[in-house]
Amino acid sequence: MKNIKDYTLEELKEEMEDLEEKSFRAEQIFKWVYEEKVKTFDEMTNLSLELRNKLKENYTMCNYKILQKQEAKDGTKKYLFDVLDGNAIETVLMKYHYGYSICVSSQIGCKMGCKFCASTGINFVRSLTSGEIVEQILAVEQDENVRISNVVFMGIGEPLDNYDNVVNAIRIINHPKGLNIGARHISISTSGLVPNIYKLAEENIQCTLSISLHATNNEKRSAMMPVNNRYPVEELVKACKDYISKTNRRISFEYALAKDNNDNLEDAKELVRLLKGMICHVNLIPINKIENGKFSKSTNENIMKFRDYLNDHGIVATIRRELGSDIDAACGQLRRKNLKEN
Ligand code: SAH
Repeated sequence: MKNIKDYTLEELKEEMEDLEEKSFRAEQIFKWVYEEKVKTFDEMTNLSLELRNKLKENYTMCNYKILQKQEAKDGTKKYLFDVLDGNAIETVLMKYHYGYSICVSSQIGCKMGCKFCASTGINFVRSLTSGEIVEQILAVEQDENVRISNVVFMGIGEPLDNYDNVVNAIRIINHPKGLNIGARHISISTSGLVPNIYKLAEENIQCTLSISLHATNNEKRSAMMPVNNRYPVEELVKACKDYISKTNRRISFEYALAKDNNDNLEDAKELVRLLKGMICHVNLIPINKIENGKFSKSTNENIMKFRDYLNDHGIVATIRRELGSDIDAACGQLRRKNLKEN
């Protein structure tokens, strides 16, 4: 059966027409799902019993079951959700001074194979549907009774490898009658699928694009991220420049600092050369060492020197605060667990 949360408002209007219902019913359903946050069709009391029954026959509400919930010392919460087909995904809720931010997964597993990431080496199962992405936000809001103000696509999976569903999910998240979260408060992070960066630039969505850069030349980047063999640094940077000129939006470059690998001043110099003249921001992430991983965290001293060099040379750079590391909820620590393991 189809998941009612897979549809944008416009698509749901068409669905209603197919069911020979008035299209404004879609707006009523949207209100129940995204504003009232009900979990059953029975609660949609301004719809006739007949329509509620029709909805039950045709759609699911896709309410996730929480398999596990962990809380870190800093208040970060990690959820393991049952996505109702025997698979499980992870979602992380973080509290910042400006509100709540959620880190959502876009796929069950990941194909990209980045050498420093905990999602690597786990079989790719499938992409999530739009509704399965959106449900992560609803389920966490319902469980914690909070309103989430920021969404980052930085959980498990490569969002641009699940392009259509991710873009549709963003439309639902962003819509004033949907979750009503401003596009500027939604970030997509990509390992660099160049053709889809060009495509995204044409979508007219004002979301933030983050690029997982991590290295400035092909030799180093390919050793960390196999995707670089397909889309090398110069092609990636060209796509980013196109994105900036078409959207007028600043790009955020993620740079995970690994000791004796990409964290010395030569690397910082190359980074300045590479990004010169682009409207951008560099997010430095102290790399989180994964089990059997060959990359380990840079020293605090090197991290600060790296940041200062960038800032002194006209590139705005900040060090990302690490949240949730004690429950394996920090960057790159998420890994898909399946039901059997739990
Ligand atoms: N596939 C997407 C989004 C998921 S990862 C992407 O690659 O951007 C979210 C961010 O965490 C990316 O910048 C990723 O490179 C980074 N990351 C992955 N593993 C990490 C680790 N062990 N330490 C620090 N950052 C990591």
